Amino acid sequence: MSDRFSHLWPPQNERILAALKAVYCDGDWGRYHGAQTTMLEGKLLEYFGCSYVHLLCSGTIGVELALRGLGVQSGDEVVLAAYDFPGNFRCIEAIGARPVLADIVSASWSLCPESFEAAISSATKAVIVSSLHGGLANIDRISAIAKHHGILVIEDICQVPGATVNGRRVGTYGDAAVLSFGGSKLLSAGRGGAVLTNNESVWQRINVFKDRGNDTFALSQLQAAVLNPQLDSLDDDNTLRTHNALKLIDRTALVDGVDGLSYAEGEVPVFYKVAWLLKSCHQRATLLAEARQLGLPLFEGFMGFVKRSERRCGKPVSLRNSECASDRTILLHHPILLAENSVLEEVSGQLVQLFAQMGKD
Ligand SMILES: *Cc1c(COP(=O)(O)O)cnc(C)c1O
Repeated sequence: MSDRFSHLWPPQNERILAALKAVYCDGDWGRYHGAQTTMLEGKLLEYFGCSYVHLLCSGTIGVELALRGLGVQSGDEVVLAAYDFPGNFRCIEAIGARPVLADIVSASWSLCPESFEAAISSATKAVIVSSLHGGLANIDRISAIAKHHGILVIEDICQVPGATVNGRRVGTYGDAAVLSFGGSKLLSAGRGGAVLTNNESVWQRINVFKDRGNDTFALSQLQAAVLNPQLDSLDDDNTLRTHNALKLIDRTALVDGVDGLSYAEGEVPVFYKVAWLLKSCHQRATLLAEARQLGLPLFEGFMGFVKRSERRCGKPVSLRNSECASDRTILLHHPILLAENSVLEEVSGQLVQLFAQMGKD
């Protein structure tokens, strides 16, 4: 992916360079576990204030292992939003469980609490709650519903590391949380992930599954080395990204052709993508082509699962908002959010112009 802003990601700074040199010099780059992975585990536990962590080779395997850790089995139902990361659906299938779709809240791109509750059956064992594209799931309400029905909660925080709701970190509400350190993510090692939990038996079940004489899904010392300095500066980087994203959302809020993100009191989002919903799906291809000509990193959102057959998943509730999101979402990639002010001014002007055109056609 190359655009006007691809030089801003992955981050190139003295601290990451120093970390790379250090693991080169002491040979840690060639080792499985050691000082770097131990340091990263410690930093993550402290940052999220939780008791157990598994460092893993991807966020996707993290979601699968979290399901296994919670004891989800073949025949169980797992609720997820009908607009979500494709891998989450596959992870449920991978363990022989059945995905059951619920709808999203339109301006948050995240699971709707009421729709989740309506999708619950006697076979429901767990729910996957992703916060996507700068949107935040109403995790307070969702965990309360889940608790009431005896359902376990996995928070997919791959897109929102560091976000808070009422001062509490997203990722600390559920029974397990999943992080990704993939190449485009806000904490990046090119690849990688983690599962966080406060429940020892969840940690232990994952441990048993991944231990096959070796640590089958490990994150390496080399990966941990570049992640440690990124975690140190995550809050500062998030503050800058969030400031700039909110400015873009604000500037485009009055334009006719699109709807933007909105937040409840007490929510402090983090931006891996910034999302808008076009009022009509007919113009998306045109808009993206024009954006590309301007060198703007605008993309389509996820395909979503609304069209998947009932052989593969349960669809007990209306999925209207998810269907709209699948057809009409456009996303701005995050590196631009670290650009200097003059660049952001220019980009916000270009977005307003592009979006306003959509309102007219
Ligand atoms: C990136 C991502 C994942 C996992 O991705 P990996 O590339 O496997 O690390 C899971 N969920 C969401 C919402 C994501 O954005």
